[in-house]
Amino acid sequence: MEIKGFIPNSLLDWEGYIVSTIYLPYCNFRCPYCQNPSLIFSPHTLSTITWEELKSYWKKNKKWIDGVCITGGEPCLYRKLPELLRGIKGLGLKVKLDTNGTFPRRLGEVINENLVDYIAMDIKAPLNMASYQKSTGIKREFYLKRIKESIQMIRDSGIDYEFRTTVVPTLHTEKDIEEIASYIQGARAYYLQNFVPHDTLNPAYEKITPYPRERLESMCKKIARRVVKCGTRGK
Ligand code: SF4
Repeated sequence: MEIKGFIPNSLLDWEGYIVSTIYLPYCNFRCPYCQNPSLIFSPHTLSTITWEELKSYWKKNKKWIDGVCITGGEPCLYRKLPELLRGIKGLGLKVKLDTNGTFPRRLGEVINENLVDYIAMDIKAPLNMASYQKSTGIKREFYLKRIKESIQMIRDSGIDYEFRTTVVPTLHTEKDIEEIASYIQGARAYYLQNFVPHDTLNPAYEKITPYPRERLESMCKKIARRVVKCGTRGK
């Protein structure tokens, strides 16, 4: 498992914390609006950051760095993910994990071993095959089953979490967002993230105009009663 991106410190990736963010390459989805195409298709063109480099940075800056966000790509692709998280926790740092939810077994491993403090799971579309296929390119039904399993596992885990959807005009209607919110009824937090038409996996998506922020906020208001906390992100 190679680490293909490192932001030494960020105030944006985990609300309330100063964190480092690391990027793991490859993903089993092909979301047309994905903003990390080189991480998905050509990670060999990106430089690798070694564990020793990371460890030395975190040891030096431990006084003011609270934790590490693990993102990608899809971090749960890796059998060695628990080992990486053990190393980070061993340095006294908190861990936030981003996932698309298609590897519930891996998720279960890291939850059961107390290796994560926060999970941010993407829900890419209403939970039916046609919608998920359009938003992610997946063609196999078992993915949907796994995603549903991950949602339940996260909700039952006792760990702090959020679900989130990147809202894209050609992929999501207001009704779709209501359908997702209704599926996760009672969840701790659900965020609507505005799509950014820049450097997208499918270049055609660079021509799509995102919803105005007010439209996202209005969607958020409509579903607010369904979840404990609902928010919007992006311009
Ligand atoms: S947006 Fe996330 S889940 Fe979709 S292809 Fe990119 S890294 Fe994978």
